Amino acid sequence: MMRQYELAERVRAYDEGADEALLNRAYVFAMKAHGSQRRASGDPYFSHPLEVAGICTELKLDLPTVVTALLHDTIEDTDTSYDDIRKIFGEEIAQLVDGVTKLSKLELQSERTKDAENFRKFVLAMSDDVRVLLVKLADRLHNMRTLTHIPSAPKRQRIAQETMDIYAPLAGRMGMHELREELEDLAFQELNPDARDSIVKRQEFLAAQSGGRVQRVTDEIKRVLTGANVESWVRGRQKRPYSIWRKMHEKSISFEQLSDIMGFRVVVGSVADCYKALGVLHTTWRTVPGRFKDYISLKKPNGYQSLHTTIVGPDNARIEVQIRTVDMNEIAERGVAAHWAYKDHVGLEDKHSPYAFLQQLGEMAREGETLEDVIENTKLELFQDQVFCFTPKGALIALPKGATPIDFAYAVHTDLGNQCVGARINGRPSPLRTRLSNGDEVEIVRSKSQTPQPAWEAMVVTGKARSAIRRHIRNAHRAEIVKIGRRIAEKAFLEADQELTDKGVEEAIKRLKFSKPDDLYAAVGQGQLALKDVVGAVFPESVADGASRRKANGKGHKLIPIRGLTAGIGYRLGECCHPVPGDRIVGLMEPGKGITVHTIDCDSLEPFHEQPDLWLDLGWETFAKETAQSTARLVVDLANEPGALAALCTVIAKAGGNISNLKIVERGPSFFQFQVDIEVRDVKHVTNIMTALHASPSVSTVERARG
Ligand code: MN
Repeated sequence: MMRQYELAERVRAYDEGADEALLNRAYVFAMKAHGSQRRASGDPYFSHPLEVAGICTELKLDLPTVVTALLHDTIEDTDTSYDDIRKIFGEEIAQLVDGVTKLSKLELQSERTKDAENFRKFVLAMSDDVRVLLVKLADRLHNMRTLTHIPSAPKRQRIAQETMDIYAPLAGRMGMHELREELEDLAFQELNPDARDSIVKRQEFLAAQSGGRVQRVTDEIKRVLTGANVESWVRGRQKRPYSIWRKMHEKSISFEQLSDIMGFRVVVGSVADCYKALGVLHTTWRTVPGRFKDYISLKKPNGYQSLHTTIVGPDNARIEVQIRTVDMNEIAERGVAAHWAYKDHVGLEDKHSPYAFLQQLGEMAREGETLEDVIENTKLELFQDQVFCFTPKGALIALPKGATPIDFAYAVHTDLGNQCVGARINGRPSPLRTRLSNGDEVEIVRSKSQTPQPAWEAMVVTGKARSAIRRHIRNAHRAEIVKIGRRIAEKAFLEADQELTDKGVEEAIKRLKFSKPDDLYAAVGQGQLALKDVVGAVFPESVADGASRRKANGKGHKLIPIRGLTAGIGYRLGECCHPVPGDRIVGLMEPGKGITVHTIDCDSLEPFHEQPDLWLDLGWETFAKETAQSTARLVVDLANEPGALAALCTVIAKAGGNISNLKIVERGPSFFQFQVDIEVRDVKHVTNIMTALHASPSVSTVERARG
């Protein structure tokens, strides 16, 4: 366990004037408060807040933050009260500890963290002072490092999943990439140990094969730069297994195709030297086209700056190189923690700063978004590359790659998004589903009578657009349900020979404990409330039999609901492309054949490109998609070697897929091509399975069938 003087030394190393007496008081206070409590590992409980404080010193956080780390579990887990802390340590620290305690409490009821109401509390607890979140992240990191000591597997899984879903993206959003990567990798180890093992083994194998390549390449880059009079610090490292897994996922490629298994970082003294070093590398080695990115002149939203390039470097290996200054490197690794000014909330005006992100979270919380929505959107935006587009007046709008004119419209203004009916890209009328490219000038055509369309949801990639559309759909959906519920209720009353009067409804609301008529109708419309209870609440004597015969909202058709098609309209899923929930889809209305749903890139759409009137904009209904089972079709090239097919089946089964059909399409001397039909939940599930297949050594290519 770290000693008192060691902690003090660590703080003094970056903050000479730190109040050591205060630190020591907190050390002793926390140790006494936790007394003989133990952790799951058997260690004294106090070792935990102490380690968390240690992590805070690695991040070079200010003294009140380190003190908060020492005290962070005292209110929650000991007899200590808010007032005790305030009397001894002052208002500032008491509030910080209180904030961390509130976050921890929400965590305990984690099933409910996803509710809008809990999300609101969660965000409010951390958006006041970013230091609350920093301590919470340090706390989570230590808990993840010691996760294996928790005996209950479901509990470990829950904590790991929450880390992956919430805390790692938050750390990323705060620009703290080292921390994010460690959190993700620890969670990955718990959630998908097989996948992680296969990547680690592969990394070890490649490292052994290349015989110290990382060091050789590092030395060579350093030598070349020194020769050109650029003073630099060069570091090479193996990427963490989870980063590799994610890249494989995103790009849907195999391990060998990844150029950035090894990452190299060149740190230099000035911005001018960044570009000079880039020039030297590009003239010494061949560059890989399309891989150069200048995040120095165009900062990433979280403040990240760097040059990225990929070269065919020493040893003929494709390597990714990041070039940046010392300051940029600090920010790249420590993010918010690197801005010493966070204490004063400096940076609030910059709408790209992490503080602005916390503010935005606050806004979303007030608008009633759920944490799940926000995190999903956060993840999306965080990992995507950007495209830069212009308004007709020349304003620059940065959007994630894959963004459409709808994203663009919402990025400019929510009203513009809501009312958008069309777009002109570089002067030419273009469909709303067009993916924007760098440098596009986008003019949005708007109409006052337009409202957000359900099918848009599948066309957008930004959180802002997605949440605006969802909000609208939720409201529209509810209005619809209320209307249906009311109609059903009226009919039920008629059947019971009664009339549904306003007074009767008031009575029913009171008895059934609803706050307003619409809530009652919504419950009926959704089938959560039996009609006989409603009728009975008003006319207890009439419920003998008749009224309850008709069950509320008796649907139960097997078709997965699709937005853009009224419920009840039949459709078929394309036998060519096997769309699954989450895929971008379109409908094709062929005369005499009805509606067929295809993935947007299905080859069988080709002949219909000139007949826009046959096309329907569709999207998957996102309500209750968990239960649906769809069939995806994969085309897999498999090495012709013993055990390969068995391995394929094992990998799919381990990823939770159920093979419903398997057939050989082509047989070559060294490989087989298989067509595999798999029952899956949604497109995320398919991608997961494909990534797992990519990681398997006997699989050479995996693709979705496309007609
Ligand atoms: Mn803790």
